[in-house]
Amino acid sequence: MLYEAQTSSGTGNIVHSALEKVLDILQSTELFSPHIHQVKEEDPLTSDYVDGLCDRTAINSQTNRQIYGQKNSISSSSSKLQVGVSSRQSLSMYKPSAEVQSLLQGNATWSFDIIQLESLTNKNVLVPLGIKIFERFGAMELLGIDEHVMASWLKLISDNYHSGNPYHNATHAADVLQATAYFLDKMRPKKLLDAQEEIAALIAAVIHDVDHPARSSSFLVNTKNDLAILYNDIAVLENHHAAKGFQLTHKSDNSNILKNLDREVYESLRHNVIDMVLATEMAKHFEHLQKFIHLCAANIKPVSEDDLEKKSGGSSSAMESGLDSPENRRQILRMVIKCADVSNPARDTHLADRWARRIAEEYFQQTEDEHRKNLPVMMPHFDRNTCSIPHSQYKFMEVFLLSMFEHWDGFLDIPEVYEQLQKNYKYWKDVEIQEKQEKQSAVATETSPATPAVLS
Ligand SMILES: [Zn+2]
Repeated sequence: MLYEAQTSSGTGNIVHSALEKVLDILQSTELFSPHIHQVKEEDPLTSDYVDGLCDRTAINSQTNRQIYGQKNSISSSSSKLQVGVSSRQSLSMYKPSAEVQSLLQGNATWSFDIIQLESLTNKNVLVPLGIKIFERFGAMELLGIDEHVMASWLKLISDNYHSGNPYHNATHAADVLQATAYFLDKMRPKKLLDAQEEIAALIAAVIHDVDHPARSSSFLVNTKNDLAILYNDIAVLENHHAAKGFQLTHKSDNSNILKNLDREVYESLRHNVIDMVLATEMAKHFEHLQKFIHLCAANIKPVSEDDLEKKSGGSSSAMESGLDSPENRRQILRMVIKCADVSNPARDTHLADRWARRIAEEYFQQTEDEHRKNLPVMMPHFDRNTCSIPHSQYKFMEVFLLSMFEHWDGFLDIPEVYEQLQKNYKYWKDVEIQEKQEKQSAVATETSPATPAVLS
């Protein structure tokens, strides 16, 4: 149809050349991420993000990168599995204190303070918060298990996050779980998704970064790590997290939350969990976002006064019935976990600030490792001696978050999240100005001539 439209539009005009461009994009392998190269050219930091996070081997299989041979330093999939809690008695140690219980009361709010929970629980956030959230969604009934199996599974997964990672640790998993639950609770997902899909999303959130080595997929490819070899350089980390999550789940009956599911339910749940974990790969960011925008445009009419009136009368669902297809539901689930995974810049500013410094620290360590091993430096901007964390944060928001959360707010009606993101965007710009001024005045003090000695 496009070819026909192009032919009939005649040559040399604006429509003809626009259609030429459209056809070029459609023929490329980057169907839904056509503007990735445009954003890349904007500035070096944007280019760092796209190269470093959107693993170019997955974006463009023709990229002929030079990979330097180095010995692996990251533990591979064959690393020892941690053993879960096996008896009811031992679970008593995870009984939350009164202080933790009172904090957990707020687990369904956007301002939930996960960092405070981390310090109150000595970094064991995933079990108490997980129990609370899975309970809230009726997971134990749906899975046919008791609380002890759930707690044991959460502990097992938690133990397989690396507590030494500045960012990709069990607290991040718990944070993503909390955000996932928050989004699932909103009206549209509540109406569209069934209980099994909700539980799949919560499980996916818990395992989505398990055994993360605090290095990116590109780093694993560049070091010829066993995981990169195993997954043929494609979505290395995400494939590993999904596989490792299931491997751990099936390790022992005591902690197997899926052991009582019928084959059919199990297969459908497993499919959804894997699909969601793989959707957290940043290389697919623009593809998933574009598909979601298209899905909304095709099925959701802009809300007018009339619609609002109809809504209160309960007849609005007909115009959104198109949303309820298996592929659309899957795409919504992908967005739930994707948005949850990168939602910490939209948290209360004091939390967003902490997360920003943690991710920067993890990137700094990777850059140092790359220099030490004489590897290509994937994100040179993240050099601890020169990096401006405020700049890196608001650039990340510009490239990946502002547009996504604007659409996500349009879909979920979560102005508190989108407005907080915008507030933090302004916060980081202000901090950058402040830091620049401090630096300038420090330089001025250093270079100003010493006060002349008073002549007696
Ligand atoms: Zn994550």
